[in-house]
Amino acid sequence: MPAHDVLIIGAGLAGQRAALAAADAGASVAIISKVHPVRSHSVAAAGGINAALNPEDSWESHAFDTVKGSDYLGDQDAIEIMCREAPDEILWLEHAGVTFHRNGTGHLGTRAFGGASQARTYYVADITGQAILHVLYERLMQHHERVDRYEEWFTTRLLQDETGACIGCVARDIRSGTLEVFNAKNVILASGGAGQVFKPTTNALICTGDGIAQAYRIGAPLMDMEMIQYHPTTLAENGFLITEGARGEGAHLYNAQGERFMEKYAPNKLELASRDVVSRAEQTEINEGRGFPDGTIALDITKVPRKRTLEALREIVNIGKDFAGVDITREPIHIRPGMHYIMGGVKTDFDGQTPIPGLYAAGEVACVSVHGGNRLGANSLLDTLIFGRRSGDHAAQRARGIAMPKSPVSVLSDAQAEIDAILGRAGSGSPGRRISEIKNELGETMNRYVAVFRDAEGLATAHAIVQRLKQEAPNAAIDDKGTVFNQDVLAAIELGYMLDVAEAIVMAAQERRESRGAQFRTDFPARNDADWLHHITVSLNGDGPGLGTAPVTITRWEPQERTY
Ligand SMILES: Cc1cc2nc3c(=O)[nH]c(=O)nc-3n(C[C@H](O)[C@H](O)[C@H](O)COP(=O)(O)OP(=O)(O)OC[C@H]3O[C@@H](n4cnc5c(N)ncnc54)[C@H](O)[C@@H]3O)c2cc1C
Repeated sequence: MPAHDVLIIGAGLAGQRAALAAADAGASVAIISKVHPVRSHSVAAAGGINAALNPEDSWESHAFDTVKGSDYLGDQDAIEIMCREAPDEILWLEHAGVTFHRNGTGHLGTRAFGGASQARTYYVADITGQAILHVLYERLMQHHERVDRYEEWFTTRLLQDETGACIGCVARDIRSGTLEVFNAKNVILASGGAGQVFKPTTNALICTGDGIAQAYRIGAPLMDMEMIQYHPTTLAENGFLITEGARGEGAHLYNAQGERFMEKYAPNKLELASRDVVSRAEQTEINEGRGFPDGTIALDITKVPRKRTLEALREIVNIGKDFAGVDITREPIHIRPGMHYIMGGVKTDFDGQTPIPGLYAAGEVACVSVHGGNRLGANSLLDTLIFGRRSGDHAAQRARGIAMPKSPVSVLSDAQAEIDAILGRAGSGSPGRRISEIKNELGETMNRYVAVFRDAEGLATAHAIVQRLKQEAPNAAIDDKGTVFNQDVLAAIELGYMLDVAEAIVMAAQERRESRGAQFRTDFPARNDADWLHHITVSLNGDGPGLGTAPVTITRWEPQERTY
């Protein structure tokens, strides 16, 4: 059995940054990823990463914008740490080799992003995530003596000792189908978000909420699960993202009557209000009949000089051509709000620790909570790196004081029995529906009832459908009975994770009877600080979810009315 001081599940930006920090602190590290690390979803991040690095900017201003963006649900102590540490992290990345854009004077250049009072987003054209991920991976390879990489290994569950501490995981080598038990003094979950719970989504097929469900299943509380970000500019056909960088560079939004409607909803920030505000404005225009017949709004990127678009937004030039047949440098492209990001996740402190000893979480799987009710664009890459690094460092220090745990051999046979049970199911044509059909129904349900606007009736419908799908999922058809790259088995396990995550999202959304950030309840349209200025938690209680609360930390910014 492999045994390490620090075992990291996930090799996106959070996981790789955690691995580098833990290795630098002297720990022996393993990093597991169900895809090759540079195919992790962080590779899709486009627009950039925030930091108050310019002399005329300040971390306090960045922190206030983040608190306001969160609709005062973000924990201000964690936000202060993230914003204070951001400038050094950007410089660390730059020195590591990330080729951030430089302006005409040769200094690091910024672009504007939504909800920010200063242009403080650092970027590499519109491939910022790819640029950072590749540099981190080069560094990881340099650390090969300390970091063992398990690429295309799928973690099926977390392991605990008799005291409840997390002591490792079980993972399946996707290439051979072999199961292995990994022992570890500490486990860091860095397994990303859960966008596939919705359909469509901007997230890749691999974003199935595995880590959120795995942590929940061993008793870790989830927090802010009701807070689902709909991004204002996604393609109607397939959910592909048109980066906020487009509006940052000067693109405008118009309804079908040619009105620049953001003048009504956010007269000061216009298209660069925070995402929840812009998405709601678009959906209101569409719902009230001022959208286009295909249920969209127009994003006009021709306002940006063509040369600049071709230089700084070249990926979305390609996306426009390839997936919508539109040359965005010459004509508007039709977009609508689409599911993009989950603000909630596994509850942690600002060193990534969960309440379960030995279990950490960082990145989109986690909820520190720096995003609260609504994440500002370009704050997520920052979150992954700051709290990934802090988790890796803290876990390495913790490893020094404890002995290596060892899981009983029976763990492996139990895990194998679970896989065998999946393989033993009937194939399609049997009464069981295909996994993809159940997944589609889940995604479309969530996108219909748990979207930009919500109400009690719709949420109750979503809850009932999720319960029915949970009953159905264990009998979904399995066609592939082989061992090599068996995606059917993995999809069956992922479906179970997605249903757990969906249940937590819906129940938290039902519980929060007010409107705040990304949660807009048409039956409770006002923010209500007197009753709801707290986090909602979801924890496993017996066989099902139990709801609780956690206080919001306020350090210096008292809640105010939020206008842009
Ligand atoms: C299209 C798009 C554009 C974006 N642009 C920006 C941007 O410009 N700026 C910004 O700040 N944010 C942006 N975001 C958000 C940001 O990219 C993500 O929140 C962030 O990259 C998540 O990083 P992560 O390390 O937490 O997870 P990921 O990068 O998703 O990595 C998750 C890792 O976990 C592994 N994993 C998952 N489950 C398992 C399992 N069961 N077993 C083994 N391994 C597993 C995966 O293989 C992967 O390695 C964007 C998001 C999208 C969808």
